[in-house]
Amino acid sequence: MGATATRLADDRTRLAPDGVPVLRTELPGPRSRVLLARQEERESRARSYPRRLPIAIRRGEGSFVEDEDGNVLIDFLTGAGVLALGHAHPELVEVIRDQVEVLTHGLDFPTAVKDDFTTELLSLLPERLRAGTRVHFCGPTGANAIEAAIKLCKQATGRGEIVAFHGGFHGMTHAAMAVSGDASTRAAIANTMPGVHFYPFAYCHRCPFGLAADSCDTNCATYLENALKDSHAGMTRPAAVLLELVQGEGGTVIAPPEFVRRVRAVTRELDIPLIVDEVQTGCGRTGEWFASDHYGVEPDVRVVSKMLSGAGMPVAAVLYDQRLDTWHPGAHTGTFRGNQLAFAAGAAFLRIMKRDRVLDNVRARAEQVRERLVSLQHEHRDLIHDVRCIGLMIGVEFDGPRAAALVQREAFARGLILELGGRHDSVVRMLPPLNVAEHTTGVALEIFAEAVGAVRQLPRDDDEEGLR
Ligand code: PLP
Repeated sequence: MGATATRLADDRTRLAPDGVPVLRTELPGPRSRVLLARQEERESRARSYPRRLPIAIRRGEGSFVEDEDGNVLIDFLTGAGVLALGHAHPELVEVIRDQVEVLTHGLDFPTAVKDDFTTELLSLLPERLRAGTRVHFCGPTGANAIEAAIKLCKQATGRGEIVAFHGGFHGMTHAAMAVSGDASTRAAIANTMPGVHFYPFAYCHRCPFGLAADSCDTNCATYLENALKDSHAGMTRPAAVLLELVQGEGGTVIAPPEFVRRVRAVTRELDIPLIVDEVQTGCGRTGEWFASDHYGVEPDVRVVSKMLSGAGMPVAAVLYDQRLDTWHPGAHTGTFRGNQLAFAAGAAFLRIMKRDRVLDNVRARAEQVRERLVSLQHEHRDLIHDVRCIGLMIGVEFDGPRAAALVQREAFARGLILELGGRHDSVVRMLPPLNVAEHTTGVALEIFAEAVGAVRQLPRDDDEEGLR
């Protein structure tokens, strides 16, 4: 099939024919305000995104969303990195429409649709791994797949402890929280899963050992190696080491290759299964099918979800080495393991990715983004401390949470939806659709630059009202 140019997310947008945001009211507009107020009255205090991005969304198309007041914004949040081909990709919509009339829910019965999807999914792995890989479709969230992966490794090894990393995020269920770095969310919840040991992640911009990058000898890996090999380090041999190669919620922190290589080497040497959480990085987000492809490592277990259906249909899977498959029938059941709409969309999504060479677009847009953000960093060195970009997983680390929150607010007011993450939410994150067009990317980057410029003009004591 031809070049990606004819099939980008934004070529066919009716919402934003000129490829720029259309702001008809101030944000939030009057209709959004009504729904936001009703939501506040009736939904839980745990709601999160609309607090900082206050709109009620009516519809989406490609890289754009329209709110209830007719304002059209560029969406670089895309359902927390879910909408791989943007909102309402016409081919995926058609596939889902066709499937909904045939079969929607299939538990874990085999279906032709699931079989087709499984083939497409396995095709993303290097050929030599396919036959020896088992796929477990679990409950349709990343957290459920993490739970499944932990249970699998505990059962297969007969061990009980898990090694996880500072800054990691793996979901909000009890075990997933227990292996996530953010202790503040865990603080209010007594008795999460015991037996988790946290080790430093090679976050070189904020070195866990307080070292400058040029004096580092991948100490994070040395520390882990020593602890795993030292019989007096207080930990029995763990059931698994659980790693994000690029920490997403942790602030787009890209592990250095040497760190990953050594974690893989020591886990292999000691026969400890390595679980790589590819919930956010998988299916092309980083410019390769899996983040592990950048590093040339083969995990024992991969966890995937988010973009897996390409269209926001919930689905999650654990892909693992068959030697770990000691599970008894029903070892990890769940009612919603058989979403046929997700399987049908997922198979079509992966075919579109290959047909339209979307990974090429991811790499080209990543270069475009990197170049612009690095030049912006040169202009605003005191505000922008680091720019990190691997494929379309993009993070800009600001000098603190205030600047990051204000940039998010100023970008939103100009029609660009961005995410925050990292320590104290000091990182502004972008997760555009993988098929985002060059033009839309350029528009978004100029809005981002304007937002940074506007924050620079704000008095330092700018009231915190808008940041809440
Ligand atoms: N793992 C990673 C790396 C994630 O980024 C997330 C969610 O952001 C999860 C797991 C949890 O996924 P879910 O929110 O679908 O439970």
